[in-house]
Amino acid sequence: MTEAPASPSPAAVPAAVAAPCPQCLKPQALCVCAGITPIANRVGLLVLQHPQEQDVELGSARLAACHLKNAVFKIGLSWPSLGKALGRTADPKAWAVLYLGSAKPTANSGEVVALDRKGNPAADQAKALSRLEGVIVLDGTWSQAKALWWRNAWMLKCKRIALNPHHMSLYGKLRKEPRRDGLSTLEAAALLLAHLEGKPEIQTTMLDGFRRMLDAYRASKAPKVTV
Ligand SMILES: [Zn+2]
Repeated sequence: MTEAPASPSPAAVPAAVAAPCPQCLKPQALCVCAGITPIANRVGLLVLQHPQEQDVELGSARLAACHLKNAVFKIGLSWPSLGKALGRTADPKAWAVLYLGSAKPTANSGEVVALDRKGNPAADQAKALSRLEGVIVLDGTWSQAKALWWRNAWMLKCKRIALNPHHMSLYGKLRKEPRRDGLSTLEAAALLLAHLEGKPEIQTTMLDGFRRMLDAYRASKAPKVTV
């Protein structure tokens, strides 16, 4: 029995279009999965990504989920319920969504601010932020995130949180962030979970992975030096 000739021949596949990493879906040059040990987070993370968010190279949403054992990453526009988005039973009242509306954190508020129904900081922050089962972060441009918000009515039942980060995004000038808090999806998730669990190491670990990805990105764009 003769074997059919391999098609396409390996020479026809340039390295630049080699298969992306199956986990983070980034080009191999930008993949930092090998250095990630997923964290056993108590507060769950649900990332909902708009189907048209296409920043494969600099996007951080999938990388955020790769850092966590208790995380679900979904691409789509709408789900009939939180449970359907998560793939398991869940009470939306025990979850919080990172709010897109105009929160007005006061100068002395913390980095994570629970909001009331009117978008003002909740009177009892500790109570509003306690016993949350998980947080939902919408990934996409400002208008894409807004579309996700309006198409998923069950989010109205969730608690709302705004961020008031004390540090700038690690993106620097690499990318304009549409969110008002200025953070990438990974940075927002890291700040939220570290605060809600009282474990700063969650943020440290996730930011470390993000920094390595950005370093790899900058290295991949740097002019090649031939010796
Ligand atoms: Zn990867």
